[in-house]
Amino acid sequence: MPWVVLVLLLGVALLPRLASNGTRDTFDYSTFLTRATAGDVADITFTNGTGHIAGHLADGTVFRTSGPDTLSSTDLAMLRGVNVRFRHAGRNAVADLLGAVLPLALLILFLVWMSRRSQAQVGGIMSIGKTKAKAWSAEQSTTRFADVAGYEGVKGEIAEVVDFLRHPERFREIGATIPRGILLVGPPGTGKTLLARAVAGEAGVSFLSATGSDFMEMFVGVGASRVRDLFDTARRQAPCIVFIDEIDSIGRKRGAGLGGGHDEREQTLNQMLSEMDGFEPSAGVVVLAATNRPDVLDPALLRPGRFDRQIVVPLPDLDERIPILRVHCADKRLAPEVDLPTIARSTPGMSGADLANLVNEAALAAVRRGADMIGTRDFETARDRIVMGQTRESLVLSDSERATTAFHEAGHAVLAHVLEHADPVHKVTIIPRGMALGVTMQLPVEDRHSYSEAFVLDRICVAMGGRCAEKLVYGHLTTGASNDLVTSTELARRMVREWGMSDRLGPMAWGGGNQVFLGEDLLQTRDYADATSRLIDEEVAAVLRSQETRAAGLLIEHRVGLDAVANELLERETIDGRDVARLVDGSISLP
Ligand code: ADP
Ligand code: MG
Ligand code: ZN
Repeated sequence: MPWVVLVLLLGVALLPRLASNGTRDTFDYSTFLTRATAGDVADITFTNGTGHIAGHLADGTVFRTSGPDTLSSTDLAMLRGVNVRFRHAGRNAVADLLGAVLPLALLILFLVWMSRRSQAQVGGIMSIGKTKAKAWSAEQSTTRFADVAGYEGVKGEIAEVVDFLRHPERFREIGATIPRGILLVGPPGTGKTLLARAVAGEAGVSFLSATGSDFMEMFVGVGASRVRDLFDTARRQAPCIVFIDEIDSIGRKRGAGLGGGHDEREQTLNQMLSEMDGFEPSAGVVVLAATNRPDVLDPALLRPGRFDRQIVVPLPDLDERIPILRVHCADKRLAPEVDLPTIARSTPGMSGADLANLVNEAALAAVRRGADMIGTRDFETARDRIVMGQTRESLVLSDSERATTAFHEAGHAVLAHVLEHADPVHKVTIIPRGMALGVTMQLPVEDRHSYSEAFVLDRICVAMGGRCAEKLVYGHLTTGASNDLVTSTELARRMVREWGMSDRLGPMAWGGGNQVFLGEDLLQTRDYADATSRLIDEEVAAVLRSQETRAAGLLIEHRVGLDAVANELLERETIDGRDVARLVDGSISLP
């Protein structure tokens, strides 16, 4: 735009000059004088100051030339008979004007342009609440309950909402009100978002979804206006489902936290609370929200009339992992030998999202080895990769490091095999993976929902096994066992502090070990005395020490088996649970 104007202006300024250079005769001053004295020139116009001369010859031809700046009287004497007119150096009036005005005009233009630009920027900031107010998206969900494998209980609970959205009149006749807000609670990747989508899909209503953090901006009040906008739209589009994902990012307890007031978040939350109050129960709007941190939510969000119903979406157990795997394998080419129940059994603790990832990794592994179907070994590769970390081919261990690692892992493996309550060994490897130099992988026979004391103690004992084996065989320790110490200390601390498994401390719990909401935790005072604190430390230490002694004793007892497992590891690098069992049990029968 400024450039167009500039070109036009230049054009206007130059045009007269170009035009005045017409197709006329041009000759020098002396020729002019000669012709003038010869009476050849009819008239001229002389411009004072520039010496520009234009005129007509006797035959009418237009000509031009330039002479001295001024015409002296001698010159004039020579021009007798010529009609002379004088002009003053006003020359081209338009060009003069432009010459004076042009720089000014350009300057003004530039300033206008600059201010427009900065206004656009400032406007961008100032109008966040308005223009980008659509922090949410509306869609017609195509997900159905059939896409969510397992979770029959959860689906049953939430199906009521579908009924309500489909036939609100039936609920109205009886006088039943449906909960306004339903909170889906569960670990990440368990399919909460998927479920919410499925509810909208089944009910055939529109699905307005937003993520908690979408509401938040740098500016106070923006989030609140977005919430208002979302709920206004919902009321207009009823019946519909409003889904707020990761609600914990706005719904945290108010008045807690470090770094001063979180004004923006509090206002957003307050707006959300008042919007939820503002619904007619029969308006046909159901608010679903998802979180994996229900503990940090503001109690006001959870009181009746708001999110008064919680539906827990736990990690899938064995019976649910099978159908979830089936859903994700539906569009993959599986080798006939692949047995999904076995794979499901070997993936305890994996969420739906993890399982989806597993299937995809397996497919990738199959492609990588050039197969045209996904085989069992691809699933093994994928699971090892997810559970134990990626193999680190670049890390080369020295021979002594390899030997130490072999005995370390053998220590874990032998104990895992001989201890009654420990999970059986699945696989042992001294191929470095992720951060670890070796891995001993144990797999539970079935999913566990609670742990017995004996189980926890055995786990600590197994974790101590690596360190004890190193000490037994080499007489000194390496840093390789640090991770084992972290796990076993954590377990021991929880036994003492949370699970009441210490006789000296008795049946009392001291603050959950879960990461409590940071700010609040720091503000909270410890709820036990210094003496208790010392007692806790002593008890934790006692648990660890007794398990270390137990591990050391067992390893001495199974020394032959330990050596056999370590040697097998050095030879084959990876062995499975059956090998460990064979070697350890075989060594027992030896004299
Ligand atoms: P969340 O919201 O609980 O973190 P998502 O709903 O985003 O989890 O789930 C992530 C992905 O995991 C889904 O897109 C889906 O592929 C898979 N998934 C999770 N649970 C299931 C399930 N029960 N059935 C099928 N797929 C599932
Ligand atoms: Mg989600
Ligand atoms: Zn270890």
